[in-house]
Amino acid sequence: MKDYLIVGQGLAGITIANELMANGKSFLAVANKNLTSATSVAAGMYNPLIFRRITQSWMVDDVLPVMFETFKKLEQTIHQPLIHRKAIIKLVNEDEYQRWQIKQNDPLISKYIQELQKGTKINGIHEYYGTATVAHSGYIDLNALSQGFHQLLQQENSLIYESFDFNDLEIFDTHISWKGTHFKNIIFCEGAFAINNPLFPEVKYKLTKGDVLTLSIDNFKLEYIINKMSFILEKSEGEFLCGSTYNWSDIDFNTYPKDLDYLKERLSYILNKPFELIQHKTAIRPTVNDRRPVLGSHAKYKNVHYFNGLGTKGVMLAPYFSKQMVNYLIEGKPFHPEVDINRFRKQP
Ligand SMILES: Cc1cc2nc3c(=O)[nH]c(=O)nc-3n(C[C@H](O)[C@H](O)[C@H](O)COP(=O)(O)OP(=O)(O)OC[C@H]3O[C@@H](n4cnc5c(N)ncnc54)[C@H](O)[C@@H]3O)c2cc1C
Repeated sequence: MKDYLIVGQGLAGITIANELMANGKSFLAVANKNLTSATSVAAGMYNPLIFRRITQSWMVDDVLPVMFETFKKLEQTIHQPLIHRKAIIKLVNEDEYQRWQIKQNDPLISKYIQELQKGTKINGIHEYYGTATVAHSGYIDLNALSQGFHQLLQQENSLIYESFDFNDLEIFDTHISWKGTHFKNIIFCEGAFAINNPLFPEVKYKLTKGDVLTLSIDNFKLEYIINKMSFILEKSEGEFLCGSTYNWSDIDFNTYPKDLDYLKERLSYILNKPFELIQHKTAIRPTVNDRRPVLGSHAKYKNVHYFNGLGTKGVMLAPYFSKQMVNYLIEGKPFHPEVDINRFRKQP
């Protein structure tokens, strides 16, 4: 009998599988290829700062080192480059520049500010009063990660592509059974699709839809990620990503011209070159109200577990919290109190 059945193979399911593997646990992962996962659409950026108030991202000093260590090891496991270290350059007006200058006196923030500069000129990019350059930022190639990791699991007969139907699940005291195959435990890592999970109705999501554009731009190279109300980054030679939208009200998987127009307008604040639209994609971020991941087990069934709520920052959060989740599963170690699923349950 395998130790775990993992439902979902986005960032949550991949990092859980990776940690289980590292701890010598056996598993089968099941994922529905027909669902558009957030992981397949995300730009994969990591940014230690929140630009709106120029504050640190939550727990960044803890999660960032684990993120680098995890993806570095995964690069070796799947023989693919995953970590792309790129400074994020924020284009700023005079007021914003002054706010960044004040933040340079705060040691918690200044370690993530590489440089503040007036009158910076970047080829192909509009010139603003100044630029703030973020240190320890970049992106993780999530397509390469998914492709490489899933290939590895398939080779080991540890991944099947199909839709998980709750009618096929039976839960017993000592194990669970899915379509007649027994596992010691099951872990749900379904991203935004978890709103349909009947075993964890207490977890209240406030989902966030997002759009990303793929663009082609001739004779243009961009060694940074540029940000001004949206972002642009070079994914491969001549191919760029631009995003993203944040929509909390119209949650569906359709792409709309209004979101395309919105991103094109935002892009016009950054780019002063013509571009060609290659693709417009949309997906849904698994966000809950307090914007914290959700870890834990079913209130009654001790072999039914949950790892979700990676929200808008899955790249930085998944490696750290998948480690906490697996330490909890194997050794019973407590995880960070803010991510505990019990916060959604009525306390006696
Ligand atoms: C437009 C956009 C841009 C983003 N940009 C960034 C970014 O730059 N940086 C960052 O850190 N984060 C970003 N994110 C957020 C990031 O994508 C998420 O935090 C992360 O990918 C969530 O991973 P997940 O595994 O929880 O969910 P998902 O990636 O959605 O994966 C869910 C998995 O569950 C499976 N599944 C669900 N239900 C079933 C079922 N019944 N049967 C079988 N399989 C099932 C799906 O097939 C899939 O494999 C972005 C998200 C979006 C939408």
